[in-house]
Amino acid sequence: TFVINQGCCKDSSCIPVCPVQCIRPRPGDPDFTTTEQLYIDPATCIDCGACMDECPVDAIHSEFDLPEQLSDYLDINAGYFEENPIAESLPPDPVHRKLPAGHTGLSVAIV
Ligand code: SF4
Repeated sequence: TFVINQGCCKDSSCIPVCPVQCIRPRPGDPDFTTTEQLYIDPATCIDCGACMDECPVDAIHSEFDLPEQLSDYLDINAGYFEENPIAESLPPDPVHRKLPAGHTGLSVAIV
């Protein structure tokens, strides 16, 4: 997973580049104005690195390149999602909410 640390400037430029939408809170979420930083859900992150490249203040690292003094942020990021499970924070989505129960929305076409 990737990890956001205390240097986060909350400009949210990482949010739209994340292909799996696992950075929270987002502008408009109830706790966006009060949060001290943004967080990455380790259970959803696919390690693409796009957020790190986009961050204007270099506040995002791979867990494997996390400086020792920032190591607490691995648990701090995960802890946010223990309090705010990502499925519950998704906005109403007319496409995905209409999928049948048990359908992930993921499929592979073989041609
Ligand atoms: Fe999202 Fe990729 Fe960053 Fe993980 S590394 S939070 S998948 S943009």
